[in-house]
Amino acid sequence: MAFVDDLGAALDKTPGGGIILTSLDALIDWSRGKSLWMMPMGTACCAMELIAASFARFDFDRHGSIPRPDPRHTDVMVVAGTITRKMEPAVKRLWEQMPEPKWCIAMGNCAVSGGIFYYDTYSVVRGVDEFLPVDVYISGCPPRPEALQDAILRLREKVSAESIVPSRAKPVKSILPQPGDPRKGDIAAEGGEPS
Ligand code: SF4
Repeated sequence: MAFVDDLGAALDKTPGGGIILTSLDALIDWSRGKSLWMMPMGTACCAMELIAASFARFDFDRHGSIPRPDPRHTDVMVVAGTITRKMEPAVKRLWEQMPEPKWCIAMGNCAVSGGIFYYDTYSVVRGVDEFLPVDVYISGCPPRPEALQDAILRLREKVSAESIVPSRAKPVKSILPQPGDPRKGDIAAEGGEPS
C-alpha cells in the first residue's frame, strides 16, 4: 500500500486533487479496516484460543479477518503466548516480512507483559511491545476468542480513522480513562452537586 500512500500525498498537493482524494480516502480507509487478515503468532496456551477463533463457532471471516500463515499476505500480527529472548529475532523477522501498513495485537498476559513467566526467569520477554509497536492489548490468561473479536473491532475503528494523507487522520475515541479524566461516580469532579 506504499504506492497508495505516495499517491495520497501527491494528490493532496495537486490543485483539485482534494476532490478525488476525498472519495479515494474514504474508500481506502473503509476497505483497509474491513479486511484485516491475521498473521497468527501463537506460541503457547493462548494460541489454543486463537485457533478456536478461526472455527465456525466464532466465525471471524464475517469481520474480514482471515488467518493466513504467510506474513507477506497479512495486515495484523496477533501475538498469542509467551515470547522468549531466543524467539524474539524470529518474531521480528516475520513482522518485517509483513507489508506496510501493518498492525499488532498482543493477546493474553504473556504477550502483554511476560505474564506469570517473567518472574524468576531470565529468558522471557516482558511484553511484545519491547520490540513491536502494539496497537491493541488483550488482558487475560487466557483471553477468550470473544476478547480477540472485540480487539479486532477496536482495531477496525482505529484503522478506519487513519488516512492515506496523515493530516486527514481522525482522532479515535478511547474507551479507557485518560489521565486527568474525572473519576467515575465522582459527582463533584464531574460538575454536579454531591448528594
Ligand atoms: S497468558 Fe496464560 S494462557 Fe496465555 S500463554 Fe500466558 S500462561 Fe498461557
